[in-house]
Amino acid sequence: MAENPMLKFVRLSQRFPEKRAAEQRNTDFAEISTSFSPAEAQNQSSRCSQCGVPYCSVHCPLHNHIPDWLRLTAEGRLREAYELSSATSTMPEICGRICPQDRLCEGNCVIEFSGHGAVTIGSVEKYINDTAWENGWVEPLAPLADRGQSVAVIGSGPAGLSAAERLRLKGYEVHVYDRHDRAGGLLTYGIPGFKLEKEVVDRRIKRLADGGIIFHLNFEVGRDATMEQLQQRHDAVLIATGVYKARQIKAPGASLTGIVEALDYLTASNRQGFGDTVPEIEDGSLNAAGKRVVVVGGGDTAMDCVRTAIRQGARSVRCLYRRDRDNMPGSQREVKNAEEEGVEFVWLAAPEAFLGTDHVTGVRVATMRLGAPDASGRRSPEPDPGAEYDLEADLVIKALGFEPEDLPKLFDADGLTVTRWGTVRVDHKTMQTNLDGVFAAGDIVRGASLVVWAIRDGLDVAAHIHTYLAAKAQTKREKVAA
Ligand SMILES: Cc1cc2nc3c(=O)[nH]c(=O)nc-3n(C[C@H](O)[C@H](O)[C@H](O)COP(=O)(O)OP(=O)(O)OC[C@H]3O[C@@H](n4cnc5c(N)ncnc54)[C@H](O)[C@@H]3O)c2cc1C
Ligand code: SF4
Repeated sequence: MAENPMLKFVRLSQRFPEKRAAEQRNTDFAEISTSFSPAEAQNQSSRCSQCGVPYCSVHCPLHNHIPDWLRLTAEGRLREAYELSSATSTMPEICGRICPQDRLCEGNCVIEFSGHGAVTIGSVEKYINDTAWENGWVEPLAPLADRGQSVAVIGSGPAGLSAAERLRLKGYEVHVYDRHDRAGGLLTYGIPGFKLEKEVVDRRIKRLADGGIIFHLNFEVGRDATMEQLQQRHDAVLIATGVYKARQIKAPGASLTGIVEALDYLTASNRQGFGDTVPEIEDGSLNAAGKRVVVVGGGDTAMDCVRTAIRQGARSVRCLYRRDRDNMPGSQREVKNAEEEGVEFVWLAAPEAFLGTDHVTGVRVATMRLGAPDASGRRSPEPDPGAEYDLEADLVIKALGFEPEDLPKLFDADGLTVTRWGTVRVDHKTMQTNLDGVFAAGDIVRGASLVVWAIRDGLDVAAHIHTYLAAKAQTKREKVAA
């Protein structure tokens, strides 16, 4: 009989204690991208056919010069490959690790189309840029002369940090405000360490702080300053606050203890990885060790939760998703990884009720079937009447996605216009909100998206803020002259 994959994972982990220790520290166990030797990186890069139309670059949100840096890597010209790769991205080694390449660059590689397997672009990008860090090729920021103007960036996720870097380089005084005690946004407290080692994020943030960007941590806009106060202190403001309001499940028993939010669960695990004392890990409320875990949701956050639960030593981990495998939003590669680690996927399943008197003991599951495609093109799930069953559970993690918080209320800025989904409304030509000198970028404009799109937005908004501030400075000069 085939061995239970979860037991196999645990057995193999126990055979490699140093690997197990690394998992527990939540570091250096990156599995999304392969770690290459120089020969492997060269080999992989030389597979690029240098085709006339680089579909990979077209489908990369940063339009990275992929075929060119693959060619340089194949020729062993790594430093040049690094310079080209870092010219279009503020965090190339991070994207190399966590972009869903199967949906972006690699999914559009012509070699993949011809059935020979895509060039592993993300792994090469990670390799080139990790090598640059190891060899000291990543240089400190070199800002232009001080322009005498300052910018407030609210939010230190990839959108805020990318904008901050580009604006600082132009010579602006840049202040980044974040309500967390560490910068990085979801790079730091959302995405687990086994996908993105925290040292990799930290060294980027340190480079920015060393380059003169001023970080105000534990600073919550709305609590520690209003939007108006920031507008008075700075010449421009960027809102890059991401989306954090968790979608809820409306079902009987949803308020039982033992039913927790995905981001609380992942943040606790990430804090533990940093070496913080986390009472909720110690008292077990946000710790899957020894528990029967049910995760509800089918996106990337759900995948991170199931894989974290496995690493914490859960007794069993099930993922309930209301559509089928073909219609799930999460990366297929992550599903495969999770299955290999022992996660059981329960497709076409939605929680109908949570069982238990005080603490959750189980989930009543309604079997779903797929109806006609909805507006997004995915087939809508509907309950299959009479097909219900119960699953035992000691810990239920809700991972149904995120929506924007009520920013006008939170920031005491009634005049700030938002869309009917609560995302900040911007003029897409300038990325400016309806408030003069206030811009917005990243998930708070797009809705929950990807790191690489947040970087794209951060770079674009920095260019727009620069145009705005340069015009403002010019007007001031003209007034003085007149
Ligand atoms: C669990 C999880 C896993 C993910 N995995 C991946 C992945 O593998 N690959 C991928 O490409 N994408 C992934 N994503 C999506 C990706 O992380 C986001 O799209 C990206 O981080 C958005 O960047 P951002 O800068 O807009 O916002 P965020 O990264 O969310 O940063 C926003 C920052 O604003 C701060 N902030 C919010 N409100 C205030 C306030 N009032 N005052 C001060 N500061 C404030 C927050 O503390 C936070 O630091 C994942 C998301 C989640 C939730
Ligand atoms: S940034 Fe993402 S999509 Fe672009 S080349 Fe790198 S891994 Fe691919």
